Amino acid sequence: MEIRSNISSSLPDVVRGDQLRLKQILINLVQNAIKFTDSGIIEVGAELYTISETDARVLLKVADTGIGIDPEKQKDIFDNFTQAESKIGLKYGGSGLGLAIVKKLVEMMQGFIWVESEPGKGSCFYFILPFALHKGSSTNMELETIPESIFVKMLDAHILLVEDDPINQMLIKRQLELWGLTVDIAQQGEEALRMHAEKKYQLILMDIHLPVMDGLTATGIIREREQGHQTPIIAVTAAALLGDRERILACGLDDYIAKPIDMNELYNILAKHLDSQE
Ligand code: ADP
Repeated sequence: MEIRSNISSSLPDVVRGDQLRLKQILINLVQNAIKFTDSGIIEVGAELYTISETDARVLLKVADTGIGIDPEKQKDIFDNFTQAESKIGLKYGGSGLGLAIVKKLVEMMQGFIWVESEPGKGSCFYFILPFALHKGSSTNMELETIPESIFVKMLDAHILLVEDDPINQMLIKRQLELWGLTVDIAQQGEEALRMHAEKKYQLILMDIHLPVMDGLTATGIIREREQGHQTPIIAVTAAALLGDRERILACGLDDYIAKPIDMNELYNILAKHLDSQE
């Protein structure tokens, strides 16, 4: 399989926009293209769509010669938790969340995205994004004021996720990786203890309800072990347990987040505890 890029010479040399979001969009689409293409070509392209005094609209595409997507399934492919077919989901793995995130990122950049695909021939994801042009002082205010979001600042740390549910493992890991984190997974408390002893983690995200050894017990043992430096441990707990704030904090946990996890809140908690270590 070959990956090609095709960047049109009609594009302006310099545009202003959100590099980080664009990178995340491309990484997701290219990862999917690789996942669903056994042989052939993956092409990443960019060409000028429209241009004005102040901004350039760029048409980007990620095309593959892979298995393609059934027309019926193309309709809701950008919706949360869609997998083209559960069979395919089983063969290729994945959470069905990637394209929902991609669409959100494209829309945050005031763009739009669509897919064209023929089963057996391949798929092409197109998206159009506006970029501000670097001409004198004429910057595009709309682009300047894209709201702060959970995707703004990448986090860079190695963290341990202690979670027994495979779906949650996948969803949380994928989201953490999109924020730049490296993630190891422990299924339960004892495994977490072993991994904590072997490797230095900058943070532990610990589900409280675990089989074999629960999160509070595991946290207690980790705290006994650690002399001086304490790894921040964030509890993930059912909302009903949140009333137990005192108990959770008394067990040596640094913070907690309720299930189902609000990803904005998770980002803020992680950023807070990772920042305070610098
Ligand atoms: P995931 O890959 O985690 O399942 P995505 O939201 O990225 O989630 O994709 C949803 C579904 O869309 C995939 O499971 C797959 O069936 C289909 N899909 C996405 N990209 C492609 C592609 N390039 N070729 C074929 N099918 C695709």
